[in-house]
Amino acid sequence: MRKIQGQQDAGQRRRIRLLGAGMALVCFATLVGRLYILQIRDHDFYAGRAQDQQLRDTVVPAPRGDIVDRNGVVLATSVTCWTIRAVPREMAEEDIGEAARVLAEILELEESQVLEKLNQRSSNDCLLRRQVEKEMADQVQQAVLEHGWQGIRILEDTKRVYPEGDFAGSILGFTNVDGDGVAGLELEYNDLLKGQNGRVMTAKNAWGYDMPESYNTLVQAQAGNTLQLTLDVNIQHYLENALTFAAQQHHVSARAVGIVLDVKTGGVLAMATKPDYDPNQPRLIYDEEERARIDAIQDEEERAHALSLAQQAQWRNKAVSDLYEPGSVFKLITASAALDGGACGLEDTFVCGASYSVAGVHFHCANNKRHGVQNLAQALQNSCNQSFIQIAARLGKDAFCQYFEALGLCGATGIDLPAEPKKSEYYTADRMGPAGDFGENAGREGGKLHGKTAGHHLAGEL
Ligand SMILES: [Zn+2]
Repeated sequence: MRKIQGQQDAGQRRRIRLLGAGMALVCFATLVGRLYILQIRDHDFYAGRAQDQQLRDTVVPAPRGDIVDRNGVVLATSVTCWTIRAVPREMAEEDIGEAARVLAEILELEESQVLEKLNQRSSNDCLLRRQVEKEMADQVQQAVLEHGWQGIRILEDTKRVYPEGDFAGSILGFTNVDGDGVAGLELEYNDLLKGQNGRVMTAKNAWGYDMPESYNTLVQAQAGNTLQLTLDVNIQHYLENALTFAAQQHHVSARAVGIVLDVKTGGVLAMATKPDYDPNQPRLIYDEEERARIDAIQDEEERAHALSLAQQAQWRNKAVSDLYEPGSVFKLITASAALDGGACGLEDTFVCGASYSVAGVHFHCANNKRHGVQNLAQALQNSCNQSFIQIAARLGKDAFCQYFEALGLCGATGIDLPAEPKKSEYYTADRMGPAGDFGENAGREGGKLHGKTAGHHLAGEL
């Protein structure tokens, strides 16, 4: 070992002091840096973590806005209900058996399932039953008070209700358990209807138990907007009844569809696809025969698949999602195009005989009727196929197709409902052949026309 002495000693001490000061400075700088990171740069992150450990956050769902018809008749609304949850770690061991038995009875659940949930001793939150009525929630509260159980929570919730039942289902759509729109207007206007959820913050101690009530802070839930439609409930009722009757009478297999428009505004007064479904129970297959067929499927996976297909089919709004050949209604378009394009005048006449031949294909009028000499007005009144072939031929295919475009028949209508095809299929000049479009070829592949004009809408005021 070397001894430090004399002159050498003083120099050494100075170096040590310098080294010490240097090290202190480095330590201090590190500390300052660390404090900067903790208190300034990452302040929000750490404050958030601390708050998370000290506060229990409970969401108070905002009531979803109503959907009403043009006269304010309520078609969809939200009602208060309650969701029952448990915090098993707060419940005393000796209470579990009895609580499971009593709660299962009140909530109409399997006792073994409730027992299994309450036995998850470390769990801070488990769902017992969602969206129950007041009567059931009151019974739970009474049982909790009577037995003095800890760890059962009765939370306010909201539930979507459609007061008219099986009515306008394909337009209204429905919501999922979280209150988000899944189909129809509920989906299209979800952001407007939804509102802003509120929050209850409850302080909790290190073990996760709630501290007294006074620590609660409340962020009020904000209700969603009311959506007023152009729809008229009375007209909708007439349409739905007529369609239901017609579908039964004619044994319609692919459902019947109808739309009533306000010709001045393009607003939808009524729109229905029948049969459809009750939006209060959208997942229940409305067609009893179809339901029985699905229930009878033995294989579980196959049955689930069949159910899913049947649900998709009954939710589909045919008025918006399906293409339909317009048939004789289209004679109005042909007539107006011929008049506007100067291909035909009001006094011009056409001859309707036994049949009219185009490129080797013979066309007749309905019921083989011979209308004889027809002017434009008579040809329209009689829906004379042969006259209209002659009128369209005068116009020519290219001009005919230009009028489709000009009348807005080539694109989507832009209606405020989901699942409208973006682009309509329609006759183009190069695809047009002698297979006439008189409503006799519905279902034929190709050459279908989306027989709607632009500007239709359902929402009136928000
Ligand atoms: Zn005819």
